[in-house]
Amino acid sequence: MDAEQDFRRRVGIHAHHVDRWAGAHPTYLRIGGVVPLSTTDYPDHLSAVVFCQGCPWRCGYCHNPHLLPRRNAQEIPWQDVMQFLARRRGLLDAVVFSGGEPTLQSGIVHAAAAVKALGFKVGLHTAGIYPRRLRTVLPLVDWVGMDVKAPFVDYSLITGIAGSGERALQSVQLILDSGVDYEFRTTMHPALHSCEKVVALGETLAAMGVRHYALQEFRAQGCASAALAAAPRKSLLDAPWHDRLATKFESLVVRRASL
Ligand code: SF4
Repeated sequence: MDAEQDFRRRVGIHAHHVDRWAGAHPTYLRIGGVVPLSTTDYPDHLSAVVFCQGCPWRCGYCHNPHLLPRRNAQEIPWQDVMQFLARRRGLLDAVVFSGGEPTLQSGIVHAAAAVKALGFKVGLHTAGIYPRRLRTVLPLVDWVGMDVKAPFVDYSLITGIAGSGERALQSVQLILDSGVDYEFRTTMHPALHSCEKVVALGETLAAMGVRHYALQEFRAQGCASAALAAAPRKSLLDAPWHDRLATKFESLVVRRASL
């Protein structure tokens, strides 16, 4: 049974449903996976998570490497997702578009609108890779979680892509200007980050007006880099600099991994 068949079986979708929703929703979105229920992907909300296929960056610590190619032989049709969501009205609060990078696909705008039309809040996980598309979709978004990977001048050391820091910087500013609820978060790995760099990044974000920030330790689960997964992972969060950052934000969330 492939991913599409498995998803249809789990949520009770039949062929005649698919035909009806395909006509009603012309949105085209390449979807690599769906989590039907999450308590952690949209703060204080029950959500379904739609994992969009494709990402042009190559962060060594990525824990969803199967979502990086633009195509996946086992994509889940958007109309199946809509059929599933129609059955979850009143049971779920929100739908979170994650990835991969959701703003890679132009269909994200119509998909967000369709989800909103069903009565759900819209969450977005993004690395801020496409600021212009982010600007278009933000009016439809109720909460956004954006990964900020490193000081903006050091971005390519994480993403492998020249100019990625400029794009991320634009996206941070767009989110702040939009008034949409947000969390910016940085995943830390001792082989990629230092205490000094994380403090510098935190101070930059605070100076831009960021009020909600999270620091999360790298988790090896799903990481395709054997070197990063095996590297010694003493916690960066125990260093005294953490207290210096805590005073700069309205909320500073710390997410520890079991080392
Ligand atoms: S931006 Fe996100 S999805 Fe893309 S490679 Fe980096 S961690 Fe993975």
